[in-house]
Amino acid sequence: MNDKKPTTPRRDFLKTCATKIPQWLLVFSAFGPEQARAVDGESDYNPVEHNYAMGVDIHKCIGCGRCVDACKKENKVPEEPVYFRTWVERYVVPPEGEAHVDSPNGGRDGFPELPADREIFRTFFVPKLCNQCANPPCVQVCPVGATFVSRDGVVLVDDTYCVGCRYCIQACPYGARYLHPTKKVADKCTFCYHRIRRGLLPACVEACPTQARIFGEVGQQSSPLRRFLRFNDINVLKPALNTEPKVYYAGASREVR
Ligand code: SF4
Ligand code: SF4
Repeated sequence: MNDKKPTTPRRDFLKTCATKIPQWLLVFSAFGPEQARAVDGESDYNPVEHNYAMGVDIHKCIGCGRCVDACKKENKVPEEPVYFRTWVERYVVPPEGEAHVDSPNGGRDGFPELPADREIFRTFFVPKLCNQCANPPCVQVCPVGATFVSRDGVVLVDDTYCVGCRYCIQACPYGARYLHPTKKVADKCTFCYHRIRRGLLPACVEACPTQARIFGEVGQQSSPLRRFLRFNDINVLKPALNTEPKVYYAGASREVR
């Protein structure tokens, strides 16, 4: 999630083209599986044996923000200006009318109490992050193949290829990407790719005190994710867009967008 919306992407893009065209010419011949191999092939880890996804149980989220804090620290997500790879939104549903959504500091510090005299039907918290879409618009629009789907189903950005044109940031319908202010490349949640390749959980999942976030293998019968998917009524965000998200929500009512 970015606090600052890109202001003049077209002008920035043209400027980027002017300064980086020689690099573009070099990398155009190097897209595709080879690129994924460069990222995947560092250890004994075999990406084709995995297919990761995340579950989010909205009934269990208490809006404490520990996941946001853990993610920020683990991934050194920029503080100034402040960006988030994952954030938590609070939905306040009145007896009639639209829900009000807030996310002060991405929910990192929890949420302020609501006024006692406010008429509220119900409130709930919705953790958000990159949905690791199986049909990702961010990948489709990247002009240099820097954003790609790894063979274990995680959408990644190769910093060495990214030219910072912001096309992917605009294409993502979930607001999951931002332009890193110092690296000048697109950045977002990777399911803590550096951790899961070592058999660890993503930092947000490990930090959650209520197990509201569930991580695992889609194809593994014994995976906690499979149990979560089997025993809950599951939704994804913005299903009409056909992005095929791999972050699955339990308890996401029609207000969640
Ligand atoms: Fe790309 Fe956005 Fe989908 Fe993540 S949520 S894969 S950044 S389109
Ligand atoms: Fe919700 Fe867990 Fe994040 Fe706390 S750590 S806000 S309970 S998902």
